[in-house]
Amino acid sequence: MSTFLELGLKEPITRALLDLGYENPTVIQEKAIPQIISSKSDLKAFAQTGTGKTAAFSLPILQLVDENNSNTQAIILSPTRELAVQIGKNIQDFSKYLKNLKVVTVYGGASMEEQIRSLNKGAQIIVGTPGRTLDLINRRALKLGNVEWLVLDEADEMLNMGFKEDLDNILQVTPKTKQTLLFSATFPAEVEAISRNYMTKPVEITSGQKNESSDNVSHEYYLVNESTRYLALKRIADLNPDIYGIIFCRTRRETQEVADKLIKDGYNADALHGDLSQAQRDSVMDKFHNKSVQLLVATDVAARGIDVNNLTHIINHKLPDQIENYNHRSGRTGRAGKKGISLVLVNNKEKSKLRPIEKIINKKFIETRVPSGKEICESQLMHLIDRVKNTVVNESEIQEFLPSIYKKLEDFSREELIKKFVSLEFNTFLSYYENSKDLNDLSRESSKTRVTSENMTRFFINIGRKDSLNPAKLIGLINDQNIGNKIEIGAIDILDTFSFFEIDKNFEEKTLEAFASNQPDFEGRTVNIEVTKKERSGNERRDGKKPFAKKEGGFGRRRSDEGGAKKGADFGGRKRTDRKFSDRPKTSVDKKAGGFGRKRK
Ligand code: AMP
Repeated sequence: MSTFLELGLKEPITRALLDLGYENPTVIQEKAIPQIISSKSDLKAFAQTGTGKTAAFSLPILQLVDENNSNTQAIILSPTRELAVQIGKNIQDFSKYLKNLKVVTVYGGASMEEQIRSLNKGAQIIVGTPGRTLDLINRRALKLGNVEWLVLDEADEMLNMGFKEDLDNILQVTPKTKQTLLFSATFPAEVEAISRNYMTKPVEITSGQKNESSDNVSHEYYLVNESTRYLALKRIADLNPDIYGIIFCRTRRETQEVADKLIKDGYNADALHGDLSQAQRDSVMDKFHNKSVQLLVATDVAARGIDVNNLTHIINHKLPDQIENYNHRSGRTGRAGKKGISLVLVNNKEKSKLRPIEKIINKKFIETRVPSGKEICESQLMHLIDRVKNTVVNESEIQEFLPSIYKKLEDFSREELIKKFVSLEFNTFLSYYENSKDLNDLSRESSKTRVTSENMTRFFINIGRKDSLNPAKLIGLINDQNIGNKIEIGAIDILDTFSFFEIDKNFEEKTLEAFASNQPDFEGRTVNIEVTKKERSGNERRDGKKPFAKKEGGFGRRRSDEGGAKKGADFGGRKRTDRKFSDRPKTSVDKKAGGFGRKRK
């Protein structure tokens, strides 16, 4: 293995690398750096994120760039703002001892004027996203006529994101004499076309097998159906209290929904997708970096450029539309020599997508069973014990309280005390998973809770057929009270002057409160409701099936999930909030669940 000095880099650069803790070059750096320094040939590099590709193209450019000429000499294009910022920051770090070297990063969603001001001051290296780069070229704020190096980083992703036209336009304004360096994790036809059209006899290098997955990542799949997908996700998180990972979803909407559910259920989770403002995305990423967010729910696009080295899990809540993207996702774990797990939740239909992915990653998926409640409780219990063992006692501060504590506990034996302290936290999980179903049994409707009268509260309402009430209107009326968007409405009985309806027992109080405070009006009558114990009459449905349920907007599905969940143990029983996680007030449940990979203090 060579050193950075032996690869031909000058001392100010190797000194900066030493400061960063880069001791030896990675495989892609070992191949790319001397190649770019010694030859003007175009370069086509197969490299995934995590291989050290940023340094592989930046360092030789820094070596060759003319520091004393303020013209733009290198343009680096990357698919997302996050990745562009990361590259810009890396280059700044690498060039800290090159006094006259300037790098400017340009991207959408930030002030154009500020970026123009920075460009006007002159910078030898520009890093940009294609859209903003083209905007700045069109405004004549960015001139690429003297460019000697053009880097297309994550070329496959830029094309996936629809930047083909922008790239074509940018490439047209760069000189023919430039050297083009194309880095991509996958080489679908579109990337090959770019290389054919814009590169001359490129030299090919690879950081390993083309597209092959890292040896440090194991790939697992869980068979689920739509009613168990989210439950399986939660169980996986619960089995791994120290989980630190990204949950990939296909759409922004799915991303926000999964994140909302996890947050509501008490997990350290947050969403990252394109509908968030830049400030929100930055805030989420800060929290993910400092681990106050353990589970980042993200779209493929938003997660590009996330530079986190110690992720334990990548979870594919849904497989990506383009199977090549699986490799991008799973490559975010198992980095820097650490082990990682990439797991996939698939239903029977989606399972057929695994085989083509196996061919790309050259590895087999291991079928894994969704953990049982008992396994989770055991894992949580051991985690709790480890936490107790590792807790540092502040002898001086606790001293004055100890005599009265000992006095209070003097009647208990050592064994009793251990049991009580452990149960204090453990009971929450135990009761949540008590009687929980085997989620691997998809043949029966094992995970669906039958709607029966026992888990519904029956309400009397003072309007009926004579007020032109019908079931649809009643559902609309209930819906208008904003009781919760996933509550279940059971049987509805419309009588002449009054009616009855059933609602999930867990929402009894919220329903009463909502009607009392809203005081809704129906056809000129003030509506009021009360809980009734009255049994249903003989001709009504007794099969426990809900005769009417709102199809969209969440009615018709139980909002609580695990079968054994008891009152008080139902993490979903907390108030729903539309506020962002960061604004969310801490609740007692947050604290209670603190030991279990859920909300930590
Ligand atoms: P990249 O593939 O460029 O996103 O780099 C992945 C991670 O590896 C980043 O956190 C880099 O800071 C780090 N890295 C890159 N090259 C080296 C190296 N030679 N030694 C140690 N860390 C490195």
